[in-house]
Amino acid sequence: MPSQTLETDRHMLVTIACLSDNYAFLLQDKKSGEVALIDVPEAAPIKAELAARGWNLDQIWLTHHHYDHVDGLPNLLPDYPARVYGAAADAHRLPDLDVQLSEGDRFSLGDTEVEVLDVSGHTVGHIAFYAPAAKAAFTADSLMALGCGRLFEGTPDQMHASLTKMAAWPDDTLICSGHEYTASNAKFALSVDPDNAALQDRAAQIAEIRAQGGFTVPSTLELERATNPFLRSHDPQIRSALGMLAAEDKEVFAELRGRKDRF
Ligand code: ZN
Ligand code: FE
Repeated sequence: MPSQTLETDRHMLVTIACLSDNYAFLLQDKKSGEVALIDVPEAAPIKAELAARGWNLDQIWLTHHHYDHVDGLPNLLPDYPARVYGAAADAHRLPDLDVQLSEGDRFSLGDTEVEVLDVSGHTVGHIAFYAPAAKAAFTADSLMALGCGRLFEGTPDQMHASLTKMAAWPDDTLICSGHEYTASNAKFALSVDPDNAALQDRAAQIAEIRAQGGFTVPSTLELERATNPFLRSHDPQIRSALGMLAAEDKEVFAELRGRKDRF
């Protein structure tokens, strides 16, 4: 299954499989017809999707500088010369940007307003794009389906603060994250939260979807809050499993992230 589409009155959201386990996304504002691409792991599957739909590309939003999110850009831009958006803080190590963004900035895709959040942790300079009218957030390797990104550059406190910001979006926000990691994430989540019935259900669904080659991304924030251990540092059952009943949330988060690294 090379792509998967969700459609509402005002938007089309296309999830595109790239490389071995990456996702890129296309968001179309239907009224204006404007299209944004979120991350460019590789050009070929994205070009194929755009061609099949007869879409032009207006904007490219980059979440962070890692190769598996930007490397397709040089092969894409000659055919689809869109404006490239990315973090001002990372402009020195991102491809050439047309628009440099920082926490709190807003811009538009047609009639769709987009908010920028600094979600540092996986890298320092990682940003997320939140489009409330599309009920969609593009979180790449910060908040991930049933997980969160490894801390290559940031501290546990930074990632915890980033996740806390994202956890404030509405329940029905689609979490469009950067990788298909949920099957392995589920094993870790169950190891620290074994009695969580919602998590058990989700793990079973993930196994079923993956057995058929389907996508487990995007998810919803409601599901993440109920099952993602990295959003559940406050949870008494997780705290008791870790022997950290009296610790601060960010300390529990740091312990969870450390355990996942060693899992
Ligand atoms: Zn990354
Ligand atoms: Fe990545």
